[in-house]
Amino acid sequence: MSRFFSNRLSSLVPYIPGEQPKDTKYIKLNTNESPFKPTQKVAKAVEKQAGLLQLYCDPECSDLVIKMSEVFGVGKENILMTNGSDEALNFAFMAFCGEETSIVFPDITYGFYPVFAELNNIKFEQIPLKDNFSICVDDYISVNKNIVIANPNAPTGIYLSLHEIEKIVVSNPDNVVIIDEAYIDFSGESAVKLTNKYDNLLVVGTFSKSRCMAGARLGFAIGNEKLINDLNTIKYSTNPYNVNRLTQSAGLAVLEENEYYMEKCREICNNREWTKSELKKLGFCMTDSTANFIFVSHGKIGGEDLYFALKNRGILVRHFSSEKIKNYNRITIGTKEQMEILIKTIKNILSKH
Ligand SMILES: *Cc1c(COP(=O)(O)O)cnc(C)c1O
Repeated sequence: MSRFFSNRLSSLVPYIPGEQPKDTKYIKLNTNESPFKPTQKVAKAVEKQAGLLQLYCDPECSDLVIKMSEVFGVGKENILMTNGSDEALNFAFMAFCGEETSIVFPDITYGFYPVFAELNNIKFEQIPLKDNFSICVDDYISVNKNIVIANPNAPTGIYLSLHEIEKIVVSNPDNVVIIDEAYIDFSGESAVKLTNKYDNLLVVGTFSKSRCMAGARLGFAIGNEKLINDLNTIKYSTNPYNVNRLTQSAGLAVLEENEYYMEKCREICNNREWTKSELKKLGFCMTDSTANFIFVSHGKIGGEDLYFALKNRGILVRHFSSEKIKNYNRITIGTKEQMEILIKTIKNILSKH
């Protein structure tokens, strides 16, 4: 820390992203990316924009927002596009929380929430998950604080039904409820359809997982026009050109072939169910994940040991060292071929353990 770093931030502990090794020899199952490439149409769209990089991009992402409105069935005024959904989340923390309005979220969830709270000087409270790692909905009824819930949750993959989400939203009418739907395309119903009914519901989504665009950084928020206006106030006070030209064109091209990407999500869900059943045969315990990852532990090998054993054999998964989940690993679901190699490798590790 330099002697100039603000006192206010001196205890800030930044988010630690999953490893992104430079050598590509690993089977990379550690950051929930898609194993599939975007289509040629995306590459062509980006190439066309590459010749226009001397010009600023459209700060309103107009073409993209028109297509979003069609695909998601909401008004253009209900959408904000962002530089990854991390930015949408940060904007929401900045816009709706403060000294007097704190925020609550589960104790085991996306690791960025406490960081956004610390960064913006926001008080927060972490509500413990139940012993089976599911969210206790009653804990969020009438809490009188802002709420952020990842649905399905990370790293557990457990999904709360739309009915349960609605109960939380209805019971906290004077607070903003943020539903982070990074993995919803692999799961159940999206809360987007409730946004025209509740002015305190903000749904955040991303193109990073289900739409094969993690490297392009594209996310969005959907909600009541007034909420979106507030987020725009933050955006135009920090970075009006938050979504660059290349990413806007890539996002539009992806949405023009949305059905292809949704089909790829179904393929990943099939691979997930196959992987789950294979791992169960090998004695693994796991949560009922509906996302593009699974969260698994084994009675005979510790979480960290399995992580290193896999890494030594060329497979990267994500291990979290926090006490409650240190016996688990989060494994991204890849192609069927990658999953077959994973299972073979794990069999090999278990036989030698
Ligand atoms: C991956 C992830 C995000 C962030 O996605 P980006 O759009 O890549 O910033 C947000 N929330 C959760 C729960 C995630 O897992």
